[in-house]
Amino acid sequence: MQVGAISIEPVLDGVARMKPSAAFRGMGAVAGTKGTNDEDWAPHRDLIADDGMLEIALGGFLVRTGDRVVLVDTGLGDMERGVMKGGQFLIELAKLGVQPADVTDVVLTHLHFDHVGWSTTHGEIVFPNATYRCDARDWAHFVGPDPGATKKLRPLEGQLEPWSGTGTLFGGLDTMSAPGHTPGSTIIVVSSGTDRAMMLGDVVHCPVELLDDEWGGMGDVDPALAKRTRVALAKELEGSDTPVAAAHFPGMRFGRLLTGSGKRSWVVG
Ligand SMILES: [Zn+2]
Repeated sequence: MQVGAISIEPVLDGVARMKPSAAFRGMGAVAGTKGTNDEDWAPHRDLIADDGMLEIALGGFLVRTGDRVVLVDTGLGDMERGVMKGGQFLIELAKLGVQPADVTDVVLTHLHFDHVGWSTTHGEIVFPNATYRCDARDWAHFVGPDPGATKKLRPLEGQLEPWSGTGTLFGGLDTMSAPGHTPGSTIIVVSSGTDRAMMLGDVVHCPVELLDDEWGGMGDVDPALAKRTRVALAKELEGSDTPVAAAHFPGMRFGRLLTGSGKRSWVVG
């Protein structure tokens, strides 16, 4: 994905595969919301793999601007939890010509374990020259109260520069506050000239959540607020021609939310 002078490339750490209805039932979804049975999925076959499984990518994005090498999220890490298995992130990064010491900034959309996995490993910082960045509300919510997040993230505190809500991180990268999934959940907006693209974190896990306002979410700290945030995002995106992607989209591929004949459609690319 090229956004003016800025490139964005997916860095896959692993891929989880689940039955689509099970994905939206067993991952912290709110009971009764859409996506939990096969009938809900019938109109969305194009988002499901040929074998009927939903591919849930695990990873982050490499963003290269003129003078910065940026990671937006760092995948699951070298671990396995349920159907999720990471381990490929640094290998994939090397294939893109980037070594850990080259990374100047690690930007975390939120602090759930499957987005911060390669931030540290065994208590050591993985990207020694990077400034680590996240919303201050997520740091307060997770680091301290959550033992797993604390163990993973405390070692990087000396290199942390938290942000507060919506604003500019540096040239070409802005934060857009999108709370609900977590208190500091953030959309990262990349812009160059008149072009822009967005990385959605876990505001949506699958493009289907942008197509249908009644669709359930996954693992939201505040499901009602997360839904309001998702619905507002879909309204903003429809017909805007802005490419968006999220860390769990199949293949981490960008797409656009189009409208026509009174309904939304998702077009990859
Ligand atoms: Zn996630």
